[in-house]
Amino acid sequence: MSATGLVTGRHRRHVVVETNDGERSQCIVRGRRLKPLVGDSVNIDVLDDGTRVVVEILARKSELLRIDSRGKPEGVAANITQLAVVVADEPAADWTLVDRYFAAAELQGIAGLLVWNKSDLAPLAACSTARSYSAIGYRVVETSATQARGLEPLRQALADHRSVLVGQSGVGKSSLINALLGSDAQAVGRLSEKRAIGRHTTTAAELHRLPGGGELIDSPGVRQYAPWLDAAERLDWAYREFRPLLDRCRFDNCRHDAEPGCAIKQAVEDGEIRAERYASFLDLRMVLTQLKRR
Ligand code: GDP
Ligand code: ZN
Repeated sequence: MSATGLVTGRHRRHVVVETNDGERSQCIVRGRRLKPLVGDSVNIDVLDDGTRVVVEILARKSELLRIDSRGKPEGVAANITQLAVVVADEPAADWTLVDRYFAAAELQGIAGLLVWNKSDLAPLAACSTARSYSAIGYRVVETSATQARGLEPLRQALADHRSVLVGQSGVGKSSLINALLGSDAQAVGRLSEKRAIGRHTTTAAELHRLPGGGELIDSPGVRQYAPWLDAAERLDWAYREFRPLLDRCRFDNCRHDAEPGCAIKQAVEDGEIRAERYASFLDLRMVLTQLKRR
């Protein structure tokens, strides 16, 4: 017997697959080369003894990669439709990291959402950098996880998506996730009834269905990952406000650096592109160039 399902959990030795009937069960993976990620659609075989085996991963629409400890790309989650980047006044936001997340999202064709948390400490209105992201087309929501403020707009922004919440340590990701899942954080409990999976198994990642709609993939590794960017990709295209100007540079292969007639640099001078975004673009490209050389 075989079936199709969605990977909702990844553990060290097995994955959890939800089949169309909504049932989640533990599956082993056939072979070492098959590396299912949470969010993957997979085909499974059910053996005579009831063992379930993942035998095939269906084509991915998107794939979030991070840099592993050896500097190689490693899958974090599959078929995500939105990357929600959490920032706060404290710890101070690293905007280059935010731009790196958003560039990774653009290159995967997925939406970027900026969550300004700890609004009780500093309102979004006080941070012009955070607000500037809505001018270039990113949705920006303001929350306070501890005061349970702004959770409804956040739920709405997550409702039609399969999202991951990422950002620096201490900005409030865990607090937001707890607030979002509330008493509905039962994915583990429901599962343990079926196949006696203990509460203490280490989960690499887990897919939660949000009470207000949408799905959230979460794990400690996902929350703080440094996104992989391929040096071969067009980083200038990944800066969405650069895109309409790219064919206006004098040179087709313009690096938007020292070249004359660069439409990007002109737009920065004219105040149409924010100088901080341009600076983070140059920073990120330097990082990518160094990666390429290695
Ligand atoms: P994470 O590392 O991003 O998962 O952040 P945590 O959720 O662990 O939160 C880090 C600290 O910030 C904790 O002490 C939280 O209580 C606090 N925190 C989280 N959200 C808020 C918030 O909205 N307002 C305030 N004042 N503190 C918050
Ligand atoms: Zn240029």
